[in-house]
Amino acid sequence: MVTGRRARAWPAALLAAASLTAAGAAPALASAQFAPGADGLGDPFFPHAGNGGYEVAHYDLRLDYRPDGARLEARARIDANATQDLSAFDLDYRGPRIRSVRVDGRRAAYGRTGQELVITPDAGLPAGSRFEVVVRYSGRPRQIVDPDGGIEGWVRTDDGAFVVGEPQGSPTWFPCNDYPTDKATYAFRITVPRRLEAIANGSLIERRRRGRTSVWRWRERSPMASYLATATIGQFRLERSRFGGLESVVAVDPRERKASRGPLSKIPAMTRLFESLFGPYPFDETGAIVDHAPKVGYALETQTRPIYDRAPGQPTVAHELAHQWFGDSVSVASWPEIWLNEGFATWAEWRWAEHRGGRSTARAFRHMLAVPADQDRYWDPPPGAVPDPSKLFADSVYVRGAMALEALRQRIGDDAFYATMRDWTQGHAYGNASIEQFTALAEARSGQDLDSLFATWLDQPGKPAV
Ligand SMILES: [Zn+2]
Repeated sequence: MVTGRRARAWPAALLAAASLTAAGAAPALASAQFAPGADGLGDPFFPHAGNGGYEVAHYDLRLDYRPDGARLEARARIDANATQDLSAFDLDYRGPRIRSVRVDGRRAAYGRTGQELVITPDAGLPAGSRFEVVVRYSGRPRQIVDPDGGIEGWVRTDDGAFVVGEPQGSPTWFPCNDYPTDKATYAFRITVPRRLEAIANGSLIERRRRGRTSVWRWRERSPMASYLATATIGQFRLERSRFGGLESVVAVDPRERKASRGPLSKIPAMTRLFESLFGPYPFDETGAIVDHAPKVGYALETQTRPIYDRAPGQPTVAHELAHQWFGDSVSVASWPEIWLNEGFATWAEWRWAEHRGGRSTARAFRHMLAVPADQDRYWDPPPGAVPDPSKLFADSVYVRGAMALEALRQRIGDDAFYATMRDWTQGHAYGNASIEQFTALAEARSGQDLDSLFATWLDQPGKPAV
């Protein structure tokens, strides 16, 4: 689905020649091939998300945040590979003022337009070459409002910031290639006042006091989509442990501690269940971040360490944990395919309830099937045909989306169903995949023609007639 790599309107050859001249080099004939990378990857909902002409390998983020005054001083180093001869390229950025941009150690020209940070290095970047971008920026990072009215990005709290990025909030706090198909590794070095904690993804490398501040270093070694990064800051109590070979860091705002203890204690048992059904847990670290940020109104599956805006219940913990397989390791190829995240995580939530002696997935399905057709928020839009970004996280994507998977399980049986799920998580680990690839895999594993089942559950408007 990621196709439309649209070129910029202005003449690329002129720009490449001009920048070479400015750098003091003779304009080479070959410069005519150098062109700016596309300013978006053509997502149907977020056409400017992501950028063309390069892929990021690694982000090294240094953040210094003072909650009083909400000021961020930051430096992002981005290691990338050019996939075309580039005269200029974009990063997605919605953050505070840029102080400088360097490419391969040399000052680069830059400009901002909408969510694009347009960078023109002093020499072209040949296809296949590796390059390093260093962006320095400072000021007050902001939250943004999504098409569905939800808030995301750098969301201030009473003691710090709740930092979430689905689907387009990460550029509020670091310049990035903000699309699920460009995964990279991450290093975080976050400096905060010493009374606070700073929690990011992956492994906790170091926490040390430095004068009146403390420095927190985290490292995410598995490929991660930018929307799954976090650098959440506030007062947290940390519990570090190990289970099943995993490093666990659970960080909880003291105000939410009592209510979250029970549900969070189930993470090891949930992990074992999901591993038995879906295949190995995809990462080396696990845990949770439970903040006190009631205005946010949702939890998010930030990679290795889901974030909750308040003490979560067990279903929510199961949901966000399941996303580590469905969403984080296997990510959508484009945003309209969100069913692959939310339908799957909701079904896993049902499956956890069944496992601990509650309602079975079959009963959950029957229960929802009794909901009348006129309660249309459960039925429309169809989860495989989300019409616009305001409906990305509609109830129907979750509930009817989970029913679609349960209908599949009942049709093809447990053996073929779980074989499909395991092949899915293994075959696309740390990558991206589409709904079409999932339905083809289910047909291959079951040996059945499932066109009408998927059309009924994923595509047709209104309550499915079954
Ligand atoms: Zn979810």
